[in-house]
Amino acid sequence: MEELKLNNGQMIPQLGLGVFKVQDADDLKSAVAEALKDGYRHFDTATIYHNEEWLGEALAESDVKREDLFITSKVWNSNTTYDETITAFHESLKKLQTDYLDLYLIHWPSEGYNEKWRAMEQLYNDGLIKSIGVSNFEKPHMEKLMTTAKIKPAVDQVETHPYFQQKELNQYLKSMDIAHEAWGPLGQGKGNVMEDPVLIKIAEAHNKSVAQVILRWHLQRDIIVIPKSVHAERIAQNIDVFDFKLTDEEMSMIASIDKNQRGSGDPNDEEFLKS
Ligand code: NAD
Repeated sequence: MEELKLNNGQMIPQLGLGVFKVQDADDLKSAVAEALKDGYRHFDTATIYHNEEWLGEALAESDVKREDLFITSKVWNSNTTYDETITAFHESLKKLQTDYLDLYLIHWPSEGYNEKWRAMEQLYNDGLIKSIGVSNFEKPHMEKLMTTAKIKPAVDQVETHPYFQQKELNQYLKSMDIAHEAWGPLGQGKGNVMEDPVLIKIAEAHNKSVAQVILRWHLQRDIIVIPKSVHAERIAQNIDVFDFKLTDEEMSMIASIDKNQRGSGDPNDEEFLKS
């Protein structure tokens, strides 16, 4: 598994398993068991997914050592203060059956994020989180955060896929030495991205699936990916992306199919952030 070095020196496996919308304990446990067997070590959850407890059980049942795992969770919008963030973090730790997180993120730039960040800095300084970051932050949110932050976020996890490539934000994050992590890396099964003729052509040329081409494209942009699936065959397929390379021309072809089309959740929509 390829790893990236974050701006605080910590390493992150560049590909992990996302578990958004997995609402069945058995599905989650079998997906995690399959993923571990296939070589996944990085798992991405959030308080709002209501499955931290099952992920904790699944990981506890495996014989992979804690130090070989990379676990991410996120503090939800309803926790708006310093104290609430600390409490929410400890609840996540308990559910995940661990005494530290590898990465903890502010889920959306909602009310109070500067204060939430202050709490996360404290947890980081206390050694309870290896790296702290944000999610769904655009440049103005990051600039506002940096007016009070003492520690720069290590990661920004944002919607990114071939129809919403986030080219400007990617450049900005690179300039800030903040790692770009893609959520919805496969387009969440929306907007027909998987049926795009350019992607199909490239997939055929490499004898790979469209999903594998998309994941490879992210990796070659130095983006961290956390594709979600509960199906053994897809979980195996999604990590089988380290034995081929897209050419510069193929990377440019994919760059040209961007539609700047968000699939869900706009971090600039105040009403959405309150929901
Ligand atoms: P995704 O782009 O990973 O798409 C998942 C869907 O793609 C699956 O449900 C399945 O239908 C399909 N799929 C997966 N592998 C496939 C394959 N090999 N072939 C064909 N189809 C395949 O979308 P996602 O789950 O929304 O995003 C990934 C992860 O990102 C989530 O599970 C979650 O951990 C995280 N996430 C974070 C935020 C945030 O606000 N920070 C928001 C959404 C998701």
